[in-house]
Amino acid sequence: MDSEILSSQNSISNSLQQPSDILERFFGYNTFRPQQKDIIETVLSGKDAVVLMPTGGGKSICYQIPAIMMEGTCIVVSPLISLMRDQVDGLKDIGVKAAYLNSSLSKQAFMKTLETFGNGVLDLLYVSPEKLISDGFLTKIKGLKINMFAVDEAHCISSWGHDFRPEYTKLSQIKARFPNTPIIALTATADKITRRDIIKQLNLTEPATYISSFDRPNISLEVRPGQKRIEQILSFILERKSKVGIVYCLSRKNTEDVADRLQAKGIKAMCYHAGMPSEARSEVQDQFQNDNIQVVCATIAFGMGIDKSNVRWVIHYNLPQNVEGYYQEIGRAGRDGANAEALMFYSYRDFTVFRDIFTKNGGENLELKLSKLDRIMQYAESQICRRKVLLNYFGEDLNENCGNCDVCINPPEYINGDIIAQKALSALTRMNERVGVSMLIDVLRGSGKKEIYNRGYDKIKTFGAGREHNQNEWQYFIQQIVNNGLCEIAYDQKNVLRITNAGKEVLFGNRSIQLASLEKKLERQKARAARAASAPRISKTQTLQEELFERLRSLRRRLAQAKGVPPYIIFTDKSLEDMAKRKPVNDFDMSEVSGMGERKMFLYGAPFKQEIKAFMLEKGRAGVKVAGATQQISLDLYQRGISVPDIAKERGIAEKTVTIHLATLYENGEDIDIHKFISNKELDVIQQVVKALKDPIHLKDIFEALDGKIDYDKIRFAMAHLQRRTN
Ligand code: ADP
Ligand code: ZN
Repeated sequence: MDSEILSSQNSISNSLQQPSDILERFFGYNTFRPQQKDIIETVLSGKDAVVLMPTGGGKSICYQIPAIMMEGTCIVVSPLISLMRDQVDGLKDIGVKAAYLNSSLSKQAFMKTLETFGNGVLDLLYVSPEKLISDGFLTKIKGLKINMFAVDEAHCISSWGHDFRPEYTKLSQIKARFPNTPIIALTATADKITRRDIIKQLNLTEPATYISSFDRPNISLEVRPGQKRIEQILSFILERKSKVGIVYCLSRKNTEDVADRLQAKGIKAMCYHAGMPSEARSEVQDQFQNDNIQVVCATIAFGMGIDKSNVRWVIHYNLPQNVEGYYQEIGRAGRDGANAEALMFYSYRDFTVFRDIFTKNGGENLELKLSKLDRIMQYAESQICRRKVLLNYFGEDLNENCGNCDVCINPPEYINGDIIAQKALSALTRMNERVGVSMLIDVLRGSGKKEIYNRGYDKIKTFGAGREHNQNEWQYFIQQIVNNGLCEIAYDQKNVLRITNAGKEVLFGNRSIQLASLEKKLERQKARAARAASAPRISKTQTLQEELFERLRSLRRRLAQAKGVPPYIIFTDKSLEDMAKRKPVNDFDMSEVSGMGERKMFLYGAPFKQEIKAFMLEKGRAGVKVAGATQQISLDLYQRGISVPDIAKERGIAEKTVTIHLATLYENGEDIDIHKFISNKELDVIQQVVKALKDPIHLKDIFEALDGKIDYDKIRFAMAHLQRRTN
């Protein structure tokens, strides 16, 4: 099989190549991301390394490239069994020899993989930690050529972390058995205790530590007050027709409800939670991996076992419990580096629900949990760049505003909030601080609810005193009033609001408060939307590109289905985007596409080229301007046996133009028999003349040097022949 031949050829020459060659040939990327190269060189030099990089940062390449380059096999320890097959499929698809061993394999398949491994032909072997430490596995493989161990998700070793796995602690055996084999430990969890634990427990010898920025600039950040969430979510998804995403919900019931509502609007959505039978859960995962459904409405249990790189958005239906969890969840979007969106909804109620649960459950970590909850609430209410807040939380400083969060895009405008706050606080006082947020708003707005009359609140002086602001505005104001410490929520007493000393100062006019205005915020949002709508639509090129992207996406899906792998294994969204932008119709240009290594080119170059050509032809014929389309039309007619003069006539263009089209395409590698235009002898003659002439050569110079004996069309083809780009 070609794949076998290709990879065995690879393994002969790889040791002579540079990491950057491997990056280009196998992975199809031109440049390393920060630190990747240093990490690879460290590992190649036989040193241990600890690598901290965010999800989607590009950790895998750090051990995969050395594994491809070095003799022997790299053992990758990974706890995520469900990901192994995908990872191995992905590697095979770029021509790397990889396999996996875990409990999902049949005994037979297991033995077969062991044998292949024993023969020393594998570049990488993925093993679950249980397998690695079981039945003297390490002793058995002692005699084999192992070039390194990569411990993925290395934070699982630490009981301090959130993903502790007891099996991981036994990985200390690796160093004991293989003292001279380098170990590279990788994780996306960054805290110091975990890092120290990793080094200690794996017995790493003076490891080089690499810490990357945890910023994920391609993920846009937005937080909205949690009103009419479902309507907002619906319109969000409907505006993003083919983009897949996850809606994280708090409860199982909630995931089901949201999925139902989406389905009712014709959106392909499924729910996912730990209460479902495991087959049903894997079914949802599969459907999602394969782009067969657009949305999964899930509890946070969803996502650990998936490695889907083209999740384009993540919505949090509720305030998450803490910043770590939130960051990990939104990190599941945009792993391929293409643009992605994170949208969070929140309300006080969300906050109080968690607060109550935590307090009720008690436990030794209560303080910590509550303070973490406070931090995520502060993030939700932030009036400064959200990315700054997030990165700050992880101990990183972002110097400039990110420009890719809702605060940066639509900064708040402040108004004097004294009267507003006084109305609210005075109403509270008159109700003896015995009501929560929603009753307070009802009273301020003079609502006709029965409970108000029953409790006599319609008689107080401030009843209806806040009619000029609607429900949403009051919600927004009261959140800020609480946040500014003017009143507190008594969590232990049905969440009633209590005025603080600071609140009293404002109430009596001894202190002033600024409030962000919701009205102004909405005005600006509207103005922005109107501007965007009236401005000449992003440009025709943009929409054409999107249209082509959709076509390439469906081609990808067909190929993936035929092959039985998820679509993103064939190409990432990022590669397809790049392809839709460049519109390559020849091998040379196609090979420049991000992620297009040699093997991908060999496997998929032709069908994608074909699809792009078809797209151009169609658009060109419909009179839409697309660069290169006119050449494709000429070529298409030519390939149907129509002569150059007839093509010119039919298209109403000059014959010379048609010749230029064909010559250019030929020069760029198109399969055109140029002997129909020029003989070998003529080619030779022209070649001689070109050699004799000095650069730069104009057709005219050649024409004249030949005393006009060979016409321009032939010279054009001869030049194309001399400059033909062949891969
Ligand atoms: P991690 O394991 O850190 O979450 P991956 O190794 O899966 O991240 O890489 C995330 C994505 O980035 C993959 O699609 C990968 O192919 C891509 N990638 C990695 N390194 C580079 C690079 N140097 N240039 C372009 N893309 C890269
Ligand atoms: Zn920002």
